[in-house]
Amino acid sequence: MLEFQWNALRQGDRVVVHDDLDPAFGLHDATVALVRPHYPGASEIGVRRDDQPTVMSRPWRHAVHLAVIDSNDTCWRCEAGRAVH
Ligand SMILES: [Zn+2]
Repeated sequence: MLEFQWNALRQGDRVVVHDDLDPAFGLHDATVALVRPHYPGASEIGVRRDDQPTVMSRPWRHAVHLAVIDSNDTCWRCEAGRAVH
């Protein structure tokens, strides 16, 4: 996700998050649960995955996509996941 998109995230926004502990970098639906803006720079973002709603994680910006995946968005995790399957 680009920094301007990241900084535009608000609580309740729907995103998809790569699981960096998964060799296929699987994508998971998630909701933005925490937004702490930093000026200048990238906000601190916390998300809760739908399959782990009690856990808040702080993913790397590049491991998060908007819920509607932009096919022009190049992402090495997506590429690596496709290579595994
Ligand atoms: Zn990706």
